[in-house]
Amino acid sequence: MNTSYDAIVLGAGPNGLAAAAYLSAAGQRVAVIEQDVETGGGLATQELSGYRLNHHATYMLMAELLPPYRDFGLRERGVDFIRPKVQTAFLFERQQSLLLYSDPAGSEASVEALSPGDGARFRRMYDEFEQMCEAFLLPASYVPPLPPLDQTIALDQAGELGRRISEISEMSPREVIASYEFRDPRIEAAFLYLATMFGLEASEGGIGFLVPIYVSRMMKAALVRGGSHQLASALRRTIEEHAGEILTSTALQEILVREERAIGVRVLSRDGAAELHANTVVSTLNPQQTFLDLMPRDRVTALLSDTAAAWEWEPTSLFLFNQGIVGDPPIYECYPDDASRALMAVMGYETPNDVIEHQEAVAAGDRSHLAGHGSVPSLFDPLMVPDHVPFGPHHVLRWECCAPYEADWSIEASREFAEQRYDFWCRYAPNLKQAQSRVRITWTPRDIETHLPTMRRGSIKHGAYTSLQMGYNRPLPECSGYRTPIAGLYLAGSSVHPGGMVTMGAGYNAARVVARDIGAELLPEPEMVRQARERGYLESEEQA
Ligand SMILES: Cc1cc2nc3c(=O)[nH]c(=O)nc-3n(C[C@H](O)[C@H](O)[C@H](O)COP(=O)(O)OP(=O)(O)OC[C@H]3O[C@@H](n4cnc5c(N)ncnc54)[C@H](O)[C@@H]3O)c2cc1C
Repeated sequence: MNTSYDAIVLGAGPNGLAAAAYLSAAGQRVAVIEQDVETGGGLATQELSGYRLNHHATYMLMAELLPPYRDFGLRERGVDFIRPKVQTAFLFERQQSLLLYSDPAGSEASVEALSPGDGARFRRMYDEFEQMCEAFLLPASYVPPLPPLDQTIALDQAGELGRRISEISEMSPREVIASYEFRDPRIEAAFLYLATMFGLEASEGGIGFLVPIYVSRMMKAALVRGGSHQLASALRRTIEEHAGEILTSTALQEILVREERAIGVRVLSRDGAAELHANTVVSTLNPQQTFLDLMPRDRVTALLSDTAAAWEWEPTSLFLFNQGIVGDPPIYECYPDDASRALMAVMGYETPNDVIEHQEAVAAGDRSHLAGHGSVPSLFDPLMVPDHVPFGPHHVLRWECCAPYEADWSIEASREFAEQRYDFWCRYAPNLKQAQSRVRITWTPRDIETHLPTMRRGSIKHGAYTSLQMGYNRPLPECSGYRTPIAGLYLAGSSVHPGGMVTMGAGYNAARVVARDIGAELLPEPEMVRQARERGYLESEEQA
C-alpha cells in the first residue's frame, strides 16, 4: 500500500467518486477510502441469480446533466440513461388515475381529463418550474452557496422569476403546491408526493425551492441501463485511468491533524493498520463521523463539535424491497394501459392530507399506513433480468415507501411489512399474485444505516432538509464553502450544499474549491452555470 498521496477522499459514494475523478484528472495523486467491499455508496446494484437489484438510488434526477457525464465522457464508459415515456401513474380510488409523461403535453391532457380546468394550472406550474430550474435552481447545485441575504439580493435583481424563486423558497412544499390552486385534491396529492417522496417534510417552511427541482426532475427521471452501479463503475474507471487508487474494505480510524492542519488518515485494512498522508483530505462522511467520530475532541472547535452533535437526521427513512420474479409485470387492469407502462405507480394517496398524515405518522413511529410506489425496472431494461433463461418472463419488482427508523425491524417484522405491501400492490395489479418469486431483498431503515454508516438513522441525504441545514447553512456557515476551519480538510458529501441524492453537486463543487486552493487547472463550468452567471442569477466567475 502506498502511504503518500496528494489528496485522500473519504467515502466512495457518488460524491466521493466525483470529487476523486476531478482531482485525479487535475493531476493529483488520489486515494479513495471506502469501508464497504464495493464502491458506489447509494449507487448499489447487486446481481442475484441474474436479477439486478438497485438496492438504493434508482431514479436519476440529473442524469445527462451530471457534470462528470460530460466532463469524463461517461457515455463512452458505459453509462446509458433510459428515460421512460410514461413517468408516473397515480392510481386513485374508483379506477381514476393521473398519468405523468416525460412530454408535458401528455401530462396536461391527463390532468385535464381527471379534473377539467386543472390542465391549464398544471401547465402554469410546469412551465414555471422548468424556468426556475433552468435559470437558477439546477445551475445553483454546481456552485458553492451564497449567504442567504446575498442570494436573495441576486435573485431580486435578476427579475420577476428570481423574485418568485425567493418567494417560494420561504414556503413549505405543501404551500408551494397549494399556490397553484388545483381544484382536485388528488392532483395536489400527486405533486406533493413527487416533491416529498425522498424525505422532504411537506410542512417544513423555508425549503420550497426544492419543490420545482423534485417535481420537474421526477417527470424526467431516468434509469441507468444495467443498474445504477454502472455510474459508479464508470467513475471508478475514470479515477483509476488517472492513476487514482480506491481502497475498499478499509476502515477509517482517525483523520490526522497536526498544528491545525489535516495531514492524512489512519486506516485499518486487511493488511493491518496504516497511516496515509496527504496535503488534502476530502470527507464525504456526515458531520458526526467527520468531526466527532474521526477527530480527537481537542482538534475540533466547540462550534464544529456542537453543530455536529446537534445535527438533525431526517425524521423519516425509506423501506424498500427488490424482487426477481418469474411472471408478468404488474397489469393495472382497472386503469388505462399506460399505467402499466409507467416507471412508477403510486398507490394510496387521495388528498394532500393523506401524504402529510402518512409522513407524520411515520415520523412518530407508526408503520401501519399502506401507501407508496412500485416500479418494474426490467420493463425498460432487459439487462436487469436473466432473460436468457428459457422459462420466463422474468422481471424485477421494486417497492418503496417511507418508513420509521424507530421500530421493530427484526427479520420477521420486515418480512411481514414487505408481505403487507406486496399484497397491497396486488390489489391494484391482481396478476402479481401469480408471480413466482425467485429472490427478494428487503431494506429497512436499519439495514440502510448498517450498509452505509453515512446514512445514520436511515437518513438517505445525510441529514434533514430544514432551512437551518440547507444551502449556506449546510452543515454550518463556516464549512458550507467546502473548506473547514482545519486547513487541508474539506467536506464534499450530502451534508454540504446541494445536499443528497445523486446530483454529485457536493463532490463536484468541493473538487473545484480544492483545485482552486492548490492552483490546479479547472475544467470549464457546465454550460447551465455559465448561462446562469450571464443572466445574473449567480455571481460572475470573477466575483465567486
Ligand atoms: C433506499 C434509498 C433509495 C434512494 N433512492 C434514490 C433515488 O432514487 N435517486 C437519488 O438520486 N437518490 C436516491 N437515494 C439517495 C442517494 O443514494 C444518496 O443521497 C447519495 O448516495 C448520497 O451520496 P454521497 O456520496 O454523499 O454519500 P453515500 O452514497 O452515502 O456514500 C458515502 C460512502 O462513504 C462510505 N463510508 C461511510 N462511512 C465510512 C467510513 N467510516 N469510512 C470509509 N467509508 C465510509 C459509505 O460506505 C459510502 O460508500 C436513495 C437512498 C436510499 C438509501
